[in-house]
Order: sequence, then C-alpha cells, then structure tokens
Amino acid sequence: MSRAFTCREMVELVTDYLENKLSRGDRKAFEKHIAGCPGCSRYLEQMRLTIKTLGRIESRHLSAAAKRELLDAFRDWKG
Ligand SMILES: [Zn+2]
Repeated sequence: MSRAFTCREMVELVTDYLENKLSRGDRKAFEKHIAGCPGCSRYLEQMRLTIKTLGRIESRHLSAAAKRELLDAFRDWKG
C-alpha cells in the first residue's frame, strides 16, 4: 500500500515529519516524495534550518507564510 502525497499535502505534513509525528507509512511516503521532488526537498531543508535557528517550530504561525511562499514557487516550477 503505497500512498503518494501531493506537494500540497507535503507542505501540510512537513512539520509533523520533522517532529516525528507521522505514522511509519506516511513517513515512507513522505520520504519517497522528497526523493523525487526538488521543490519539496528544498522546502524540507528550509524548514530544518528554520527549526535549527528558532529552536522549535511555531508550526501554525510559520506554515501559513511558508505555505504561501511554497505554493507560489510551485506555480512557477510546474508552469
Ligand atoms: Zn513535491
């Protein structure tokens, strides 16, 4: 049973992923998507750096702005 996440779902899940809150199956699907998607891979790296900088994520807060940015970026990448 392989689930495939869309980029939009990935944005929703990235904080859970980094906080180890995903189920094993979701985690696998997440990592599979990351491996094949430069945009989400870059986003994950950004989130990692942000957490490192801030100590922890203010998920609600941060993701609203970050999400918008990312989704804008995806529009460019995917035409
Ligand atoms: Zn993606």
